[in-house]
Amino acid sequence: MKQGVLQRYREYLPVNDSTPILSLGEGDTPLVRSRAIEGITGCGELYFKLEGCNPTGSFKDRGMVVAVAKAMEAECKSIVCASTGNTSASAAAYGAYCGMSTTVLVPKGNVARGKLTQAIAYGARVALIDGSFDSALKLVRVLSERLPLVVVNSVNPNRIQGQKTAAFEIVDDLGGAPDEVYVPVGNAGNITAYWLGFTEAHAMGWASSRPKMMGIQAEGAAPIVKGEPVDNPETIASAIRVGSPASWKGALRARDESGGNIGMVSDDDIIEAYHLMAKREGVFCEPASAASVAGLIKRARQGESFEGKRMVCIITGTGLKDPDIAEQTNTPFIEEFPAELESVERALAFV
Ligand SMILES: *Cc1c(COP(=O)(O)O)cnc(C)c1O
Repeated sequence: MKQGVLQRYREYLPVNDSTPILSLGEGDTPLVRSRAIEGITGCGELYFKLEGCNPTGSFKDRGMVVAVAKAMEAECKSIVCASTGNTSASAAAYGAYCGMSTTVLVPKGNVARGKLTQAIAYGARVALIDGSFDSALKLVRVLSERLPLVVVNSVNPNRIQGQKTAAFEIVDDLGGAPDEVYVPVGNAGNITAYWLGFTEAHAMGWASSRPKMMGIQAEGAAPIVKGEPVDNPETIASAIRVGSPASWKGALRARDESGGNIGMVSDDDIIEAYHLMAKREGVFCEPASAASVAGLIKRARQGESFEGKRMVCIITGTGLKDPDIAEQTNTPFIEEFPAELESVERALAFV
């Protein structure tokens, strides 16, 4: 049986005798070798960490299991989050598993269809907010001061603790740290968590080095790259459509302590990488996840040499979350034929 994050890493997490050890099977996700993009970018070795293989289809489950277990330990019965989608799907699932009431605030018209569907299916109370993710997060913070609600956004330090376990797994799978790790950056909790994980793995002697942390934002939502908040963030990659990241300082620390970089890619770069991942690597990820790959490709095109380097791109969520983008960017999406041998045969012969 799969152990789950709390059991497997309990010594390294804020777990004590009264913390419930629960799991929906999160963590222990595959690290797979690239077949195409490794050559295209000239990397010595390139791997993808497939976080879409988590129970609700994104890395958010790693942190959510810790946040929800700690809420249970504190005998709190209600959780709340603001979300670009995946946090709400994850909170709703773990809330359902633990018999808690879950409330999610999502920016209206800005959440991928699959993610909203998940929150509804798991029975969360969904509030569509006529505003941005950033305004929803502000509301959540105020609400939690007035009501007995535990906030399960990545401002909750237990989320970061859980998410750092992905770095432990990479070190375990590779027998050490890679040279560079590419992470899409939205609210910046994940890059903060990876850096914490690699730093702890190094301190415990599991790895003799730490990787450079390469954070990737979308051009229309790149506050960290630009050095100031973005009022109306815009990108096709809804999971990283954040104008004022809560873990801004954590991202800067990861960048500076690791000698890495926070860069940005255009929506066209993201969609190109999204199609390469699906059509050349067999990995259908969501657009935000493709940003990490787009960041690597962009650096290779700028002449950076990755010869002999061991690289990892974090594939943060599955493509099934956002079917609309797949439909809109694959034309013709589906062709229709009459149910007759002749026309189907002609189509298959590419006549
Ligand atoms: C949440 C999320 C991100 C961004 O992570 P942050 O911790 O907000 O920086 C990227 N990709 C996916 C699929 C996500 O769900």
